[in-house]
Amino acid sequence: MKKTLALLLTVVLLFGICVFATPVTASTSNRLGDVDNDGWVTAGDARLCLRYSVDLEELDQASVYAANVDGDDNISAGDAREILRFSVGLEVEHIKQHPAEDPDYDPDAPTEPDDDDEITADDLPEGSKILYLTFDDGPSKYTETILDILDEYNAKATFFVIYQSNYSAQYKMIVDRGQTIALHAYSHEYSDIYTSTTAYFKDLQKISDHVYNLTGVRSNLIRFPGGSSNTVSRNYCYGIMTQLSKLVGDYGLVYFDWNADSTDASGNNVAAETIYYNSIGYTEDEVVLLMHDTNAKGTTVLALPYIIEHYQDRGYYVMALTENSETAHHPIAN
Ligand SMILES: [Zn+2]
Repeated sequence: MKKTLALLLTVVLLFGICVFATPVTASTSNRLGDVDNDGWVTAGDARLCLRYSVDLEELDQASVYAANVDGDDNISAGDAREILRFSVGLEVEHIKQHPAEDPDYDPDAPTEPDDDDEITADDLPEGSKILYLTFDDGPSKYTETILDILDEYNAKATFFVIYQSNYSAQYKMIVDRGQTIALHAYSHEYSDIYTSTTAYFKDLQKISDHVYNLTGVRSNLIRFPGGSSNTVSRNYCYGIMTQLSKLVGDYGLVYFDWNADSTDASGNNVAAETIYYNSIGYTEDEVVLLMHDTNAKGTTVLALPYIIEHYQDRGYYVMALTENSETAHHPIAN
């Protein structure tokens, strides 16, 4: 069938429709339809496209891109037909006008980075399966490696950071690499931060300022050290988690716990296999996975790619938390 179509089209082409060529703006990289990159979309381009579709011609990568006008990863007689129709000024479905052919096009106009271009968990359709990777207690010597892995898998994560004097550069790195920075604590000392609500918020303000000074980001996403269900705080102030979990909302903050635990905090350098198997045992639509980014968690980094692959293979988007995300709150126990 494909061959018959190809033959038919070749016959049409040979009758020299190229006289009706449509001029386009020359470009260094081939635009759609301009298979030979000579600045014109002609019957010659359609012919090249057609010959490539039946293995008669070899094309370079840019020309293959230009020939695949419908973007279906398959160069077919249909693509050649569209190029041919475009070359004689007929309506086509896929080849769009080049920006430079738009009378209002201003090549010198600055292209503003559009924050709305970034897809977040909020943009996903209702009912999407989402894995929220969350890394507590960083940054660390592993932060950059984690960022590399996230990039490799086009994955997003949330870093609930503390004050780490040796890794000042990593805070901005997290933001610059398109990941989400959030607040955990400045000191992370239970005996300090959980002595009173005043002590807690003083510590939180310090980490908020630290992150802001280094990154320009004022985060309103937080995670309590030990989670909201911790009972250690009872040793320092009875009922403080009950108070704090209500108060943070008054300050415009959203707190997150987790509904999935990698168990990488059950010891130092827990075997990567253990972290992997404990991380993949969840099937909720929204999985908020607790992990750690510290110098003692090298095996978390080893397990990370396999964890991401497991969820991506099952249709999960790997996204960063937003203030509208699943909070996975625990029952308060103090
Ligand atoms: Zn922590």
